[in-house]
Amino acid sequence: MNKAVICTKHKKGALIASRLKRIGLDVVEDTSFDTDSMGTFDMEIARTLSPIDAAQHKAKVATTVNNTQFGIGSEGTFGQGPYAGIVNWCEEVLCLYDAESDHAIYAFAQGPISVNTVNINSAAQLIEITQSSLGQRWMITLPSGVEKGLSINDIHHLIERARVSFPFTLMPDYRACYCTERQEIIKQAADDLIKRFNAKCPTCNKPNFVVNKTVEGLPCEYCGFPTHQVKRRITTCDYCHYQRDEPVSTLASQQYCQLCNP
Ligand SMILES: [Zn+2]
Ligand SMILES: [Zn+2]
Repeated sequence: MNKAVICTKHKKGALIASRLKRIGLDVVEDTSFDTDSMGTFDMEIARTLSPIDAAQHKAKVATTVNNTQFGIGSEGTFGQGPYAGIVNWCEEVLCLYDAESDHAIYAFAQGPISVNTVNINSAAQLIEITQSSLGQRWMITLPSGVEKGLSINDIHHLIERARVSFPFTLMPDYRACYCTERQEIIKQAADDLIKRFNAKCPTCNKPNFVVNKTVEGLPCEYCGFPTHQVKRRITTCDYCHYQRDEPVSTLASQQYCQLCNP
């Protein structure tokens, strides 16, 4: 087994460790490096890097700080997805960095997150909201600052001690250890990493040999006009640059044709 270090204060290693064992990686958490210094969900610290660059930076730091060959970086983003304004969307990227070859594999997963910021007007509403998302922790802004990682008991405590009174705003704590829905998406990203790790280049046998470019223009089945459907899938090896170019053998359905179905 190869040791792969993930710097996290939010227990991300535990989410992915059993999965990544399957590809021979022994995931070890390093809690000493504060990845929050690179930006936080509540924007107390602004994020400056793109999610991919942030994940890569975290993975590289993990290898240098711990003097290991493999490092893992994880970065999540919340916001606009395919149902912008209706559903809160989470995108996760995992980076596996190999310091020996100086190569990185990026794996992805995304999905909806049902928990949202809500205005709480009564005890009954508080119970309803917290029970519909068991395991989720919350944040509340107090005059003294933001209280984070709150369980339902913590919130009751704040109410009993008159530190919080109705109505108040309840915000989900999206940190990985406090957001169960996000944990599932991180696990899916780990599954994508496994798929990529196992996809070996036929020439050099290095990983991550997956389709990384598509070309549109598949001809319409009826009139032959090029559509926006994919006509070629291209896979280029990150290491030796061997390229596989696979033409799509079918024709596009008329429904995608600008001439037949304008
Ligand atoms: Zn057509
Ligand atoms: Zn190759």
